[in-house]
Amino acid sequence: MSDCIFCKIVKGDIPCTKVYEDEAILAFEDIHPLAPVHVVIIPKTHVATLMDIDAAGSDIASQLMAAAQNVAKLKKVEKQGFRTVINCNADGGQVVFHLHMHLLGGRKLDDSMG
Ligand code: 5GP
Ligand code: ZN
Repeated sequence: MSDCIFCKIVKGDIPCTKVYEDEAILAFEDIHPLAPVHVVIIPKTHVATLMDIDAAGSDIASQLMAAAQNVAKLKKVEKQGFRTVINCNADGGQVVFHLHMHLLGGRKLDDSMG
């Protein structure tokens, strides 16, 4: 998607601070961090929302989860803990319509789920 900012980050047209990368996934520091650790984990291929994952034929969900484990270890929050969030569509507060998982940690996160 040529007008998608996360696709531009994947292509290298917009810079990012990379945290983790493999053949399917890129993870980078969020530009407006909400916690000491705030990493955005995305599939390299354009998928707009969680609802657009093809559950039957896609490895994206498991690839995102495996990447979250790697990011948690790289950011050294795997023991004290962290939170992963996927916002979906308007009520979920999704702003960038390229599927992404937030990984937040480095402080005690509040109990509210919103
Ligand atoms: P959403 O609200 O869609 O779940 O989250 C989008 C996230 O992407 C936000 O936390 C926002 O700060 C982050 N973001 C938006 N544009 C950029 C960018 O150009 N670079 C980086 N690193 N993060 C971005
Ligand atoms: Zn995209």
